[in-house]
Amino acid sequence: MQPAAPLLLHKHDSLKTLDYSVLQQCMHCGFCLPTCPTYVVTRLERNSPRGRIALMRGIADGALPVSTAFGKELYFCLGCLACMSACPAGVDYAQLFEAARADIERTGVLRRPGRDWARRLLLGELFTRPRVLRLAGRALWAYQVLGLQGIMRGLLQLTHLVPESWRKLELQTPKVQTWFSHELIPPVVKPPSRPRFRVGLLTGCVQDLVFSNVNRDTAEVLVANGCEVWTPPVQFCCGSLHAHNGEPEWARKVARRNLDLFPVAELDAIITNAAGCGSHLKAYGRLLEGDPAYAERAELWSRKIKDVCEWLVAIGFRPPAPAPSASRVQGCRDRVTYHEACHLCHGQKISREPREILRALPNLELVELPEATWCCGSAGIYNLTQPEMSRRLQERKIEQVLKTKASIVAAGNPGCHLQLVNGLAARGITSIRVEHPVTLLAAAYRAESAGPAASPPKQ
Ligand code: SF4
Ligand code: SF4
Repeated sequence: MQPAAPLLLHKHDSLKTLDYSVLQQCMHCGFCLPTCPTYVVTRLERNSPRGRIALMRGIADGALPVSTAFGKELYFCLGCLACMSACPAGVDYAQLFEAARADIERTGVLRRPGRDWARRLLLGELFTRPRVLRLAGRALWAYQVLGLQGIMRGLLQLTHLVPESWRKLELQTPKVQTWFSHELIPPVVKPPSRPRFRVGLLTGCVQDLVFSNVNRDTAEVLVANGCEVWTPPVQFCCGSLHAHNGEPEWARKVARRNLDLFPVAELDAIITNAAGCGSHLKAYGRLLEGDPAYAERAELWSRKIKDVCEWLVAIGFRPPAPAPSASRVQGCRDRVTYHEACHLCHGQKISREPREILRALPNLELVELPEATWCCGSAGIYNLTQPEMSRRLQERKIEQVLKTKASIVAAGNPGCHLQLVNGLAARGITSIRVEHPVTLLAAAYRAESAGPAASPPKQ
């Protein structure tokens, strides 16, 4: 018999309140085991999807407590969702994972002063307040452009007062862009002729600071394909970081703020170019289903959220023509390979569309990446919380990239993008660059003519 549900909990926020059929789906076949990156490394049942689901069911049944060991196990899981793609029974591991992590945070089994402080600062302050995040981004930008970062790195190499893990972490700090998205994209951009569609554009949080160029490229590509693009200048984090790290209330708070920003009913689609965000944004309907003021809009929002590659293929994007000034000898094309972000291929089942875009690019030849769907180890903040496993997966991914002999790796998620950049830099590889597929498409459109569109964009 099911124990009574805790009071005042949203039904998806705890293993005990979750629909029991979700917990019962696993039939213990083990098909998911070879696809699970943590199980493949350790070969321990508890580090596998099947083992983790068994623990979750034990907790839901009241047979097991939410313990520190359970907390550590669930934070060792990447949340990559490869197990969902492999599962013949359709187990919804994403829901189980979020409910389990919410239980871990609510019970406080992993509480430590430093951890609590970092979570409060990152999840509770920076990633719920876009203006504060931009301010922090500006400060980091100044630190980088004024040369302070170089001085700090020099000092960190000389001193042993700082732990080695911190020194390694500092080397991975992403480069903040000079211009953020609202400085590159007007709130409304219309195509020259009558728009075929009206879409909203989500600019994200990390994406806004570190890859605002990808947001600009996304807007350009959408306009080039007949879309009128609405981009609210101040947007909130989508909340995936909160939901995946056991803070569903914070996730709901930022979801409501985003719903307030967009005229959902008036838009044909709401576009994201970040796989991890897209997967979570498509779940707003479930996240807010008990909220009388937002449930209906959240449901509509979920149906309208589209990854940019998914949308472009659905509307029949225009393949770029070869650049008239292309100096390359015909047949001699750069190689591009494609890394599949977990939350695009496993979370949203989008694999074909980015490849279709890459195949349409003149002067580029798509070569398949071995183990393209294997997690790169970025997984939200996994590279911060589990640096050793993250590094192993990063090295494995770079090995595969090198096998392709490609000079460009395309990836549709900021976390993967940074993980690949850092993995290449760690080996001193400068001949391979990482790009979002939409950036490559935007560059191909610009190169089509010698007109103003071909001039280099503001960086
Ligand atoms: S989400 Fe990834 S790491 Fe976690 S159990 Fe599933 S396959 Fe394994
Ligand atoms: S593949 Fe699905 S049903 Fe089989 S053990 Fe894994 S989660 Fe359970």
